[in-house]
Amino acid sequence: MSMQRLEALRKAMQKANLPAILVTSSENRFYLSGFSGSSGTLLITPELAILITGFVYQEQAASQAVGWQVVPATAQASATALLTEILATHGVSRLGFEENHTTVAQLEAWQEAFLEAELDLFCVPYKDIIEGLRQVKDEEELTLMNKAAMISDQAYLQVLNFIRAGVSERDVAIEIDFTMKKMGADGVAFETIVVSGKRSSMPHGKPTEKLLQPGDFVTMDFGAKYKGYCSDITRTVVIGKPSDEQRKVYQTVLQAHMRALNAAAPGIIGKELDAIARSTIEDAGYGRYFGHGLGHGVGLQVHEQPSAGQKSESELVAGNMITIEPGIYIPNWGGVRIEDSVLITAEGHRSLHHTTKELISL
Ligand code: ZN
Ligand code: ZN
Repeated sequence: MSMQRLEALRKAMQKANLPAILVTSSENRFYLSGFSGSSGTLLITPELAILITGFVYQEQAASQAVGWQVVPATAQASATALLTEILATHGVSRLGFEENHTTVAQLEAWQEAFLEAELDLFCVPYKDIIEGLRQVKDEEELTLMNKAAMISDQAYLQVLNFIRAGVSERDVAIEIDFTMKKMGADGVAFETIVVSGKRSSMPHGKPTEKLLQPGDFVTMDFGAKYKGYCSDITRTVVIGKPSDEQRKVYQTVLQAHMRALNAAAPGIIGKELDAIARSTIEDAGYGRYFGHGLGHGVGLQVHEQPSAGQKSESELVAGNMITIEPGIYIPNWGGVRIEDSVLITAEGHRSLHHTTKELISL
């Protein structure tokens, strides 16, 4: 699989007039090479696929980065020295570096070494090339993402048995995290959000020692990381019997979610999808309480391209993975969000999550 991704990258490099590039961001490095270590530099040209990494990663890199030439840096030969030597040997004259993932210090260190070696080499920033490829998931990625989603669904079903008045938000979050890890997750995809009662009006609130009380909405937003891939799901439940207003707010969010979900298909623009959910919420009179975009891409990172926000010009294509997560957040009252991670398919879409979205009272 990594060779197919490499071929697609080489085509994109040619289009961007980049005969050689360096890749240092961990997600992009993993996506292309399969190497999951925490440091390493990829050098890619039409002929070369080289992974320079530390001596400590030598064995791991050799087994994970199939088809790549692994060059181990040592105390005697630094990664920069090795890179300089390779670039000189192959006469590379134009070298791309990741604009969004290269520190000033790293760039200066490279340039200093290239200058010292009298390389006739021009360093140019690039961005979004690999991120662009990552927007369309391949079969291998879909398998891993389905598993990540399945783990978070299981954690949700498990935590439903645990949630009751008197339990703290923090304990709910710990139960979710524990179950996901127990089910095989590498860890959490992001810090689990559990907010209840009036606190549920904070879309990204942190779980606290606050105890759940009758009448509270409880919003849980969480995801598993599985073999590098993230899931992202939000469910809101109510403790005890919901009030009429709670029912109305919940049904509005659910309707907005379902309308956007049903419209998700190749060809639709991110902002059009956002508008479908937003107009549903506006028509119910809650427009000013939906202050964030409808969704975002998800994959190796929990937030990646494409976007499905108010300003998103991204046209969705089959293979995109996006979240659909409308919400209503009323200060000093509470809030509701319902989120699924959704695959765009040739026929339309397929949600990765299978747990109910009807209002559950516990
Ligand atoms: Zn989420
Ligand atoms: Zn999300």
